[in-house]
Amino acid sequence: MKIFTQGILAKRKIVFIFLLAILLPSLIVGYLSFSTFAKRREAVKKILESNLWVSGEAALKSIEGELLEHEKKALKPENFARLTELKETEQTLSDYSKLSKEIAGQLFLLNATYQIIIPKTGSEDISILPWEKSVQDSEFAQALKQAEFFEFSKKNYSRAAEFYRKCTSLAPTNQHKALALEALGRCLLSSKKYREAYKVYSELSAKYGQYLNKAGHPYGILAGFQLYEIERCRNREENSLKIFLSLYGKIRNGVWLINLPTYDFFIVEIESILNDKFSEGRFPEIRESYLALQKQQSSYLETLLFTDFLKREAVPKIKEKLTLSRMGGEAQPGRLLAAQKEDFCLVSYSVLPNFQSEKTFYGGFCWDLSSLKKEIFPKVLEDLTRDTGLHLQIIDKSGRNILTGKKELTSKDSLSLSYRQFPFPWKLLVSQPAFSELERTARRANFFYGVLLTFIVALMLLGAFLMARDISRESETTRLKTEFVHNISHELKTPLTLIRLYGETLQRKEDLKKDERKEAYEIITKESERLSHLINNVLDFSRIEMGRKEFDFKKGSLVQIVRNTLESYRYHLEKKGFSIQKEIASDLPEMNFDGEAIASVLVNLLSNAMKFSPKIKEVIVKLFEDNGNAVLQVADKGVGISPKDTSRIFKRFYRVKNEIVSETRGSGLGLTLVKHIAEAHGGRIKVESEPGKGSIFSVILPLSGPKKG
Ligand code: ADP
Repeated sequence: MKIFTQGILAKRKIVFIFLLAILLPSLIVGYLSFSTFAKRREAVKKILESNLWVSGEAALKSIEGELLEHEKKALKPENFARLTELKETEQTLSDYSKLSKEIAGQLFLLNATYQIIIPKTGSEDISILPWEKSVQDSEFAQALKQAEFFEFSKKNYSRAAEFYRKCTSLAPTNQHKALALEALGRCLLSSKKYREAYKVYSELSAKYGQYLNKAGHPYGILAGFQLYEIERCRNREENSLKIFLSLYGKIRNGVWLINLPTYDFFIVEIESILNDKFSEGRFPEIRESYLALQKQQSSYLETLLFTDFLKREAVPKIKEKLTLSRMGGEAQPGRLLAAQKEDFCLVSYSVLPNFQSEKTFYGGFCWDLSSLKKEIFPKVLEDLTRDTGLHLQIIDKSGRNILTGKKELTSKDSLSLSYRQFPFPWKLLVSQPAFSELERTARRANFFYGVLLTFIVALMLLGAFLMARDISRESETTRLKTEFVHNISHELKTPLTLIRLYGETLQRKEDLKKDERKEAYEIITKESERLSHLINNVLDFSRIEMGRKEFDFKKGSLVQIVRNTLESYRYHLEKKGFSIQKEIASDLPEMNFDGEAIASVLVNLLSNAMKFSPKIKEVIVKLFEDNGNAVLQVADKGVGISPKDTSRIFKRFYRVKNEIVSETRGSGLGLTLVKHIAEAHGGRIKVESEPGKGSIFSVILPLSGPKKG
């Protein structure tokens, strides 16, 4: 019991030592290395984060720097000068669009009163014909009055035409001349003098087309309409349509600087007439060229729409901002966002100080967003990414990349910065690719260290388990050994006491009767036999333990040995009241075996059968051949063995813990020897038992004998 308690204590101690000396320090070391690793990662992350701020800001500055550079180039006074110098309307338009492409945006120029000077379009207000005093009293005015009198009051068109013709030669200015020519043409047309009228209108269109009539419409356009009418009246329909088509093309190309309502009015008018004419399917060729013309984009209409947008959205804001900034000193250049269609437009503006002496001009630039997205931004971002290694994107309010249209994932490691100098509704998304790389390595390292630590802990636990098991086995063996010493002492003591007792009796009492003397000799012999059996067992065991046990295999009859042993043991059995039943096959072939060892096997088995059969004292000994084996079987009807003990009883010193066993004497070596001997003969031992019913021990030995070597 003491040893058992000691075993438990030893086990606890070892667990305690393991926890304290191995597991705990290892876990602490593991934790420390983990936390150092995490801290180092945190530190690197912080450095990268602060770097991200610095580099992000620098990247934003560079982008804005590029944009400012571009803006400066666009708003160069030379660009405006280039446009203002041009006189020809058509050339102005083509030059304007060329310049717009160059600077990726549209320029505009405002005068001191914020009127749009460039791009040039028709003015809103109709310039009234200058009718000064000198003109009022002139011959021209008198002739004109007379002409109008004949035309409108008398309806005498040929007389009126005469006076108008006189006016043409008396006209003080080209403007007046245009007025007179138009009236002359009108009267000639009314008096059906088509040829002359055609000539007059042709001259009006060619020489004075740019002048405006009282309604603010260029004479060129009016002349075009009249020429069309004349040709129609002269039944020269095809020619009339050609004239009309050329008029249509000229208006669309901005030959006359008219304003948007006037443009719309004439275009609608001409289109409705032409559509009407072509609906009957006549003049297919002219119709084709009309349709082709219609498909082409009208650059003048674009200019008109642009100036219209400027007037509505940009100019008022520029005016307000410049006025405000002028209050604080110098008028500051700036930028603003103006709504345009569904999108917006970025407008940069600035005062042009030395553009024309003593006059204030404001230059402006409306950025072309598509070239900004397609050309300027990609290039700047690419350069910056190459230089800084940062991942840069420009995103709109909904987080969509404005260059690709894809939704960008903003992570906690990315930084979104607003533009400082440009009022873009976009943000610059900056992220550090090293971040995700860092995270990935950290995750990988964490996993690796985690697995390693788990593995180490598992190994330690396994080691501790094996150690504890070993210790418990060791302490169990120690316990069994102690028990063995205790048992063996008892085993030795009883026969020795008896031998001494009867020896002394024989020595002292010389007058002992013959029967008594015989009994004393018998007891001394029997007890010494028992003693020598016991000592033989112990010696055999120790030889086996030391590996020195040798067997003397000889060919012979197993039947004989079994019979002899049984015969010599019969006395013991019968004396204890046992009946023996023998079933010994006499035809068993001869085989190789160690006679002494086999006798010891049978004696041990018979001795056990006797010891553990307290009630039904029957022993059956069988020897038979089975499947090439000789089987020696000893069966009893004793206490039996529980299934959990059947495998343990063959272990050295092992004795089942129950009442009967503890009452009987024994060393716990008998079955160990039997097993060893059986195995040395190339065989084995088998037990079938049921507690309370008895046991059958079978020693199975191959007839072929033990294997050599
Ligand atoms: P010992 O007999 O000296 O105790 P053994 O090695 O011969 O040692 O037997 C080991 C144990 O096996 C015994 O203590 C006993 O508990 C059990 N045993 C052996 N033979 C029998 C049997 N025939 N019936 C019941 N129990 C047995």
